[in-house]
Amino acid sequence: MADKTGQMLRPTQRSQELRQRALTLTPGGVHSNVRLLGPQIFLDHGKGSRLFDVDGNEYIDYLLGQGPNFLGHAPDVVLDAVDAACRRGMVFGAQHELELEAGEAVLGALGWPDMLRFGMTGTEAVQAALRAARAVTGRQKFVRFAGQYHGWLDNVLVKVDQDGTPQLASAGQLASHLDDSIMLPWNNLELVEQVLDDRAEEVAAIITEPLMLNAGSIEPAPGFLEGLRAACDRHGVALIFDEVISGFRVALGGAAERYGVTPDLATYGKAMAGGWPVAALAGKARYIEGFGTGVVNHSGTFNATVMACAAVAATVKRLTDDPPYASLDKLGTRLQAGLRDLAAERGLEMNVQGLPMAFHVGFGSGPVTDYASLQHLDLARYANFAGTLVEHGIWVTGRGIWYLSAAHTDGDIDETLERVKAAMAA
Ligand code: PMP
Repeated sequence: MADKTGQMLRPTQRSQELRQRALTLTPGGVHSNVRLLGPQIFLDHGKGSRLFDVDGNEYIDYLLGQGPNFLGHAPDVVLDAVDAACRRGMVFGAQHELELEAGEAVLGALGWPDMLRFGMTGTEAVQAALRAARAVTGRQKFVRFAGQYHGWLDNVLVKVDQDGTPQLASAGQLASHLDDSIMLPWNNLELVEQVLDDRAEEVAAIITEPLMLNAGSIEPAPGFLEGLRAACDRHGVALIFDEVISGFRVALGGAAERYGVTPDLATYGKAMAGGWPVAALAGKARYIEGFGTGVVNHSGTFNATVMACAAVAATVKRLTDDPPYASLDKLGTRLQAGLRDLAAERGLEMNVQGLPMAFHVGFGSGPVTDYASLQHLDLARYANFAGTLVEHGIWVTGRGIWYLSAAHTDGDIDETLERVKAAMAA
C-alpha cells in the first residue's frame, strides 16, 4: 500500500523474493498450516515488543509468535539461562537436575497439580491428557467445545458446520475419529449436564480451553467452569483444562487461578518458556501417576531437553519474582479502550472483548459468547483490516486475537493507537 505521496508504506521486495524461493522448497512456503493465513513477510529479527522484517520494516507485535513470546522477543533472562545450560550438553535421554528446577517452578506457580510431565508441543500434551483420562476412567470418548483448538492430530482436528455438526477439518483424516468426541457449544452448562446425565459411562473427559482464546476471546459465563467441575465430579469424568495459551499468561496460575476452578489435568506451553518450544501436562496424582508405572505410555526423545528446562525455569522464575500481570491489565485495558474510541470516532461498529493480555477485535456488535455468535461478526472485513494494520506496522493476524507481552510499554500503546488510527483512515 502507498501513502498519499505514492511512497510505499512498507516495501516488501526482499520478502517477496524469499517467498518465491520458499514456495519451491516447502508446500505453501510455510511450515505450519496456520501460517498460510498469516502475513507473507519474512522476519529478520525480534526484540522486546518489536519485529523487524528482511526489508528493514519494523512492527509492534501483538501476535507474539502465536503466543510464546510472553516476555517479548529474545528475552535476556531466557537466552542467558539456555546458553549457559546447553554448553554442558543438550539432550541426554536421561535425567538431569534442571528437570527438577523446572518442574518445581511450574508446580509451585500453578499450586494445584501433584506432578507433571514435560513434552514438546501443546498437541502432544493434549494427547497425553486424553490418554491418561481414558486409562483412569476406562472410558473412551471426550466432550469438547465448538471453536476450540486442541492441536492438529486426527482425534481433535474437528470443526463444526453452520448448525454445529462436527466435520473433519483436513483431507486424509481418519473419519472414525469423529466418533471420539461429543461436540457441544461453549458456555452452555445445561447441554453438558444433559450429555453426562445420558452418556457419562462413555465419557472419559471434558476438555476445554478455560477461556476460549482460539475463537474470539470468550470468558466462561459465570458458573460455567464451576458447573463443569461439579458435573465431572458427579459422573467420575476427568476435567482437562487446555491452558496452552492461557497458562502463565492470564495469571501465573493460568485460567485455573484466574477463575478459581481446579481441573484434574491441564496442558501448558507457549507462555511457559519465553519462546522456547516446550509443553507440559500437569495433573492430580490419580490421573497422572499411571505414566510412572509404565501402564500408560508417554514418550519423546526431545522431552525435557536441557534447553527446555532452562527456559522454563528462567521464565517461571521471572514471572514469579517480577509478575507482569497487574501492569498487563492496565496496558491492555488502555489499548482496548483506545481501539474502541478510535472505532467510535470513525463511526465503525467494533467489538473488542476479552482479557487485557489476550483480547479479540472484530467488526460488528458483541458480546460474543460462543462459536456461533462469533460468526455474526464480519470476520472477512476484519481479516482484510488486519492486512492494513500490518502495512501500518501493527503485527496481527486476521483471526482477531491480540496478545500483549511483558515487554510492551505505555509508549508502545501510544504508538499503536497512532498507527491504528492511520490504518483506519486508509
Ligand atoms: N491447545 C491450544 C488451546 C492451542 O491454542 C494450541 C496451539 N495454538 C494447541 C493446543 C496446540 O499446541 P502446539 O501448536 O504447540 O502443538
